[in-house]
Amino acid sequence: MKTGGETVGHVARGLARAATNQLFGLLFPPVCCGCDRQVAEPGSLCGSCWAKVRFIERPYCPVLGTPFSHDLGAEILSAEAIADPPPFRRARAVAVHEDVIRDMVHRLKYNDSTDLGPWMARWMMRAGSELIADCDIIVPVPLHARRFWFRRFNQSAELARHLSRLSGKPFDPDALKRVKPTRQQVGLGLNERVTNVRGAFKVPDREDIKVRGRNVLLIDDVYTTGATVKAASRALLRSGAASVDILTFGRVLSKELSV
Ligand SMILES: [Zn+2]
Repeated sequence: MKTGGETVGHVARGLARAATNQLFGLLFPPVCCGCDRQVAEPGSLCGSCWAKVRFIERPYCPVLGTPFSHDLGAEILSAEAIADPPPFRRARAVAVHEDVIRDMVHRLKYNDSTDLGPWMARWMMRAGSELIADCDIIVPVPLHARRFWFRRFNQSAELARHLSRLSGKPFDPDALKRVKPTRQQVGLGLNERVTNVRGAFKVPDREDIKVRGRNVLLIDDVYTTGATVKAASRALLRSGAASVDILTFGRVLSKELSV
């Protein structure tokens, strides 16, 4: 049972915390994640940015997560998933990689906007709720050691770390290594991208045990052609992962709505 003194102390601490939060809010008012305009709630978008976002909602291909223009039933796969089945089980993303979404990814990646990471992860929690519920371990797409040495920041690991914190699922940033220094995928065609990342990933021998028999959730900032996450999925499956799901923030659509 609490004594009166403890209760008073508890209330006083609560009031002090509320006052600090209010002062912090006055000094650092919440800004839009897309454009830095002032907004009412932290981690949100202003009206004009919100209107530009195309969130990826059902109906979509149950495997690739690409949106359908109309509902064909939960089991119907996209033509792409049938013609070229991916090694992963399912891919999901928050929104189409354009405008505000592309700006947020860019800011997280190049400006080291670590304050954006937790908010982006919250949005990913919603888009990937089923995948998160089914996974045993959360693994980010790694940078090559040399690039990490220069950048000191891996945006995928940042998102994965926050997803782990929010979901309580274990985070293993070392489960996958980039063993081949690859060129930036930006500006490469599909075939070049596939060649660029072939054999680029490996599960280190000491990490095998953490992956074997597990349902792995692989995190990247953007799904472009899928070449990177497919190569990473193959490496995880070669080491005995039971399944690999992919969750990204942005998703590039090769064409507008596919049916
Ligand atoms: Zn805005």
